[in-house]
Amino acid sequence: MYIPRKFEKRDKPYKFLTLSFDDGVTQDEKFIKMLDERGIKCTFNINTGICGLVHNLPYRDGEVTHNEHTEEKISQVYVNHEVAVHTLTHPRLDLLDEAGVIKEVGEDQKNLVRLTGQDVVGMAYPGGPYYTEETKRIILEHTPVRYARNVQSHHTFAMPTDFMEWAPTCFWRSEACRWLIKKFIALEPTEDSLLYIWGHAYEFDMYDGWDLIGELLDLMAGHDDITYVTNGEIYKYMTE
Ligand SMILES: [Zn+2]
Repeated sequence: MYIPRKFEKRDKPYKFLTLSFDDGVTQDEKFIKMLDERGIKCTFNINTGICGLVHNLPYRDGEVTHNEHTEEKISQVYVNHEVAVHTLTHPRLDLLDEAGVIKEVGEDQKNLVRLTGQDVVGMAYPGGPYYTEETKRIILEHTPVRYARNVQSHHTFAMPTDFMEWAPTCFWRSEACRWLIKKFIALEPTEDSLLYIWGHAYEFDMYDGWDLIGELLDLMAGHDDITYVTNGEIYKYMTE
């Protein structure tokens, strides 16, 4: 079972690398095999209110499979990685009242604890930018969630400054992603640094992207000076 590791502060700056992938789709299983083969860690943001839902997403002229894992699969697939909240049903949180936000975030958190046994403290906002100061306040006051990722890619290796608006480095399929990975590998940091890449595993089907993500993971993997972590391990390192 995944248990977050505690990294000690040290004189030599860390080069942390983390991934964050959303929606708890069935493609996560193949992706996790690729991660485990390479020793790379990821945080998976999961909607437990729609477990087992079978549906397709339209794109361009076709459709891509967007099936959600069943509860049983959630308890099996993510054992080496962190799970985090993505709400029960993926609504726009900025359109919900306080009780709605508490239910969508709080109940998803409880389901994930029940299914995985993990201490679930993280989330990714569903839909990306659909949250407000009020949303953040409600989550902090009424749920155990202590960090939340948005989709405002900043293309830097900065450590997070506001855990309730944790912005990633880049989207896996962005033009800059490969260049940023190479830049990070070459980096000789003078302070702790973080390469943080996000996405959805169904996009590997959608864009015929399994080869590309394999190449990117091969680039990222196996560097002695890089520490491969989950989002929660960064949170723990910076707050404890
Ligand atoms: Zn999502």
